[in-house]
Amino acid sequence: MMDAKTIFTTVSVMVLANGAILAVIHRDLPARLRGSASQWCLGTLLIALGCIVFAFGQPLPRPIMLSIANAGFAFGLTAYYVAICMFHRLEVRAWHFLPATVATLCVLWFSSVTPDFRVRIVAVSIAWTLLMLMCVRVLMDRRRGDASLARTILGAMFLFVSLYSAVRGVLYLGTDIPDDFAVETGGNWLNVVSAMLMPLLPVMGTTAFLLMCSDRLRRGLERAAATDYLTGLPNRRSLAGLGATAFLAARADNSDLAVAVFDIDKFKAINDTYGHDAGDRALVHVAKRLRGEIRPTDMIARTGGEEFVVLFPHLAMVDAFAIAERMRAAVEQSDFIVDGGRIGITISAGLASLHAGDAGYDDILRRADSALYRAKSNGRNRVEIVGVDSAAKARMLIPSPPAISAAESAIAHPTTHSAHP
Ligand code: GH3
Ligand code: MG
Ligand code: MG
Repeated sequence: MMDAKTIFTTVSVMVLANGAILAVIHRDLPARLRGSASQWCLGTLLIALGCIVFAFGQPLPRPIMLSIANAGFAFGLTAYYVAICMFHRLEVRAWHFLPATVATLCVLWFSSVTPDFRVRIVAVSIAWTLLMLMCVRVLMDRRRGDASLARTILGAMFLFVSLYSAVRGVLYLGTDIPDDFAVETGGNWLNVVSAMLMPLLPVMGTTAFLLMCSDRLRRGLERAAATDYLTGLPNRRSLAGLGATAFLAARADNSDLAVAVFDIDKFKAINDTYGHDAGDRALVHVAKRLRGEIRPTDMIARTGGEEFVVLFPHLAMVDAFAIAERMRAAVEQSDFIVDGGRIGITISAGLASLHAGDAGYDDILRRADSALYRAKSNGRNRVEIVGVDSAAKARMLIPSPPAISAAESAIAHPTTHSAHP
């Protein structure tokens, strides 16, 4: 079996090479991850320093050698903790450096002034265990989103090494050890195992950390591809998926599904009169008003320039119409201010619901689109349903049971159903 020194030497080379590679490639990461990655790189290089000093530092005075090597490990773990905090946008505080500082001072004192192997091993074990458990706490916290597998694996690695470090401390305490015992050369099996576990975090942990970074980037790109940058709402692309899912769900449990298409009236005039920036703010304003009126289970998306689509799962046409009408009124009554003056904004909407013969969500959307076309040609600032005349629409807004049934029957037997595209 290899002795601890040979393992330390091999580990030093591996960790150093790993740290060097990370130092080169971390520059390719986007700015928001670079700080965290450079802390991880620093941690790896400090641990490499600890390994190198353990392996080759014998010519140095023993207290100096032990203090530098242990400082490398303890501050290396602290840098890992800082990297993890930065990755999760958590604040790093001065006390986070305390375990490493106290452990290093203990090693210095109890190797020079009053040499005592036991106190040294206890101080170092407590500091390592504490630092790694601090990392585990952040990595295993489910509230912090980003529940990537790499994050869980890294958390498990820290947990495993921290438990080993605690157990090792306890085992050393129970062993009869001479004062001149050296971890790096002693024949104890614990030394060999410790040396073998040393590269777990700097080498495999680094792989997990980089995967965590790439997972964060992938999620960011996916989110950006599915979201409208201006309003933060889902875009046309993600609505297609949401619509298809809602359609299949409605078909599966034989439930209702209504779809509304909203379009801002004369939006070009807002752009032309007040400028494109005011137009952009108007879009955000309308998006907020519309979102404020829907239920948490409804889905709203910005599908085009000044067009929004809302899906109403489990909602009969009569109720969807009431909500769409409320949304229209909310926009009309809202105050959109430009240069201190109120600008009136109105929207038109087309509404459609799932029919027995529909092959997919697009069929409902097409009907809602032609209803919108009718809303525009009938004078704007209104909600239209293809096949439902104004009298039936008016009855829908009267919340008495007979009127609602009349409206429902009007929808079930539309007067101009043949007008569907
Ligand atoms: P209508 O009542 O018939 O809907 O008239 P409209 O002027 O709203 O319709 P039209 O389709 O002619 O104009 C839509 C305008 O929306 C044209 C385009 O410049 C503007 N637009 C599209 N996307 C954006 C955007 O992201 N920001 C701004 N400010 N304007 C946009
Ligand atoms: Mg428009
Ligand atoms: Mg439009």
